Formats: sequence, C-alpha cells, structure tokens
Amino acid sequence: MSQSLAYFRGQIVPIEQANVNVMTHALHYGTAVFEGIRGNWSDSEEKMFVYRMREHYIRLLQGCRMLMMDIGKTADELCDITENLIKDCGYKQDLYIRPLAYKSEELIANLKLQDLSSDFTLIMVPFGAYLESDGALNCCTSSWRRVDDTIIPPRVKISGHYVNSILAKTEATLAGFDEAVMLTPDGFVSEGSGENLFMINDGILVIPPVSDNNLTGITRDSAITIAKEDLGMEVLERRIRRSELYFADEVFLTGTAAHIQAVGRLDSRNIADGETGEYTLAINEIYQKAIRGENPKYRGWCTEVSVN
Ligand code: PMP
Repeated sequence: MSQSLAYFRGQIVPIEQANVNVMTHALHYGTAVFEGIRGNWSDSEEKMFVYRMREHYIRLLQGCRMLMMDIGKTADELCDITENLIKDCGYKQDLYIRPLAYKSEELIANLKLQDLSSDFTLIMVPFGAYLESDGALNCCTSSWRRVDDTIIPPRVKISGHYVNSILAKTEATLAGFDEAVMLTPDGFVSEGSGENLFMINDGILVIPPVSDNNLTGITRDSAITIAKEDLGMEVLERRIRRSELYFADEVFLTGTAAHIQAVGRLDSRNIADGETGEYTLAINEIYQKAIRGENPKYRGWCTEVSVN
C-alpha cells in the first residue's frame, strides 16, 4: 500500500503535517532552491530506478551556495533520505521527486541572505507525462526573455527565477501552444520554460552554451553523452539565432519532467516535415531504456530502490 509522506524538519511525516508558517521568508521572496528528480518504476524488476539522483543533489547544493543556505547535509546524505522516503511511501509507479531547500526563517522585511535559517524538505508524487502531446510539440517564441545571469543565475534551480518560466509557459499555453522557447536578453536561443533545447543540422547536434542563461540540465548531459558515444554524433556548443530553428533538420527539448521531445512547429512554421526526426528518435530510444535501468552501459546513472 502506498502513502503520501514528506521529509519535513528532519522527520518523515504524513504530508498533511508538513506545513510552514505564513511568515516563512521563502514564501515571500522565492528564496529557495529545488530539484525535480524522476523515479522510474520497472515492472519487470519490481524496483524504482531513480535517475541521476546524486547529480541533482549536487546541483541543489550549488543553488544553496548561491543563496547562502547551509542545510547541513551532503549529497550522499540527501540521496539516503530520498531512498528512505521512496521505501516508506511505497509507490510502485513512476514518481516525480521534489527536494526543496528554503529560507525557513519566520521573518519578513529582511532582504539579506546572511543569518537567515534554512531547512530542507522532500516530497514525491506519482507522475506521468509532463508535456501533453503525443507527437512533436507545437511551440512559440516567448515574448518573455530568459532571466539573465546578471539578474538571477538561471544555471541552478532558484525558486524565485521560476516566475520567469511560469510567465512564458502561461503565455504559450493560453495561446494554444505546448511550450515556449525563450531567448536571452540579446536575442539568442536560450531554452524552453522547463527544458534545454537542441538543434540538429546535417547530423551535427548544436546546443546553446549554458552561459546563454540555461539550466545545467542533467537530461541535456544525458542526451549529449548518448549522441556522442552511442550515435557517434558531433556536438557543437555555440550561440543559436531564433531564425536558425525554423530551418533546422530537427529541434528537440530535454528535461527530467519532459524527457526528450521533438519540436515539430515553431511560431506556426513546420520544422522540416513537422514530425519527430530520426536522430531525435534514436537518442530518445536509448534514453528511455537508460532511465529504467534497461541499458547496461548506463545502469550506473540509476539508483535502484526496492519497494515492499
Ligand atoms: N531548463 C529549465 C528551466 C528547467 O526547469 C529544467 C528542468 N529541471 C531543465 C532545463 C532541464 O533540466 P534537467 O534535465 O536537469 O531536468
């Protein structure tokens, strides 16, 4: 039997008991850092495969350094807490795992990061597809520019800067699109609202550098590794112009929640024939096996958790 539990104030408690006070600093100012991790359930092995968990916690701890938060835990300790919560919750289906480090001080009218207490909490929910599209995505270029590193560093998952992604995603979906492509303030391609972006031309994988205000994506790293090592593709990191996307052979997005999904249309123009391209399909096929521990080469990317 499964139950909804949280790791909260150092203990595992029923989710209803994991509540913060309205004075909490993070609630007012977005002074928090989060992660999104997938637990992928394998029916054949009767186990949860948690995908690249340690890398997610290393990125969380980088975000904590940015916001001067000492949560008093190492990446390995955070992995242990996560494994224990997965076992206690007992879900036997795909999960979205959400760690959150936050400024827990119950103090408002204070804009200094120093001297504010911090805490760490963890929740997990059953989760299927994030982007509700069977085939290639229909995207638009957002009128909202991606937050710049000179404003709030977007390379880590600081809660406050997600207002930027949320404005873009809201605008795109209200206009009938699946997802937004965001540009840097000086007009180069940055990423999706919650995904990194890839372009393929003549079999070469082209990606914007992280310095163009995108997240240091873990799925991005997986797709690069698979493209290079399994498909022998050349990977080129360079700035990308918006108009290049219209003429690309293939464009796809990557993210923990989104997985790997092709962009078939951008700004009401088809990209190639508008369908998922052959390289995107090939990378995705290998990735889908890797995240469930079904590819021996990438088994090390997964932490196996037995659930009773
Ligand atoms: N960019 C943004 C803005 C995101 O929120 C995410 C999701 N974490 C990604 C990219 C993809 O990163 P990852 O593959 O590590 O989930």
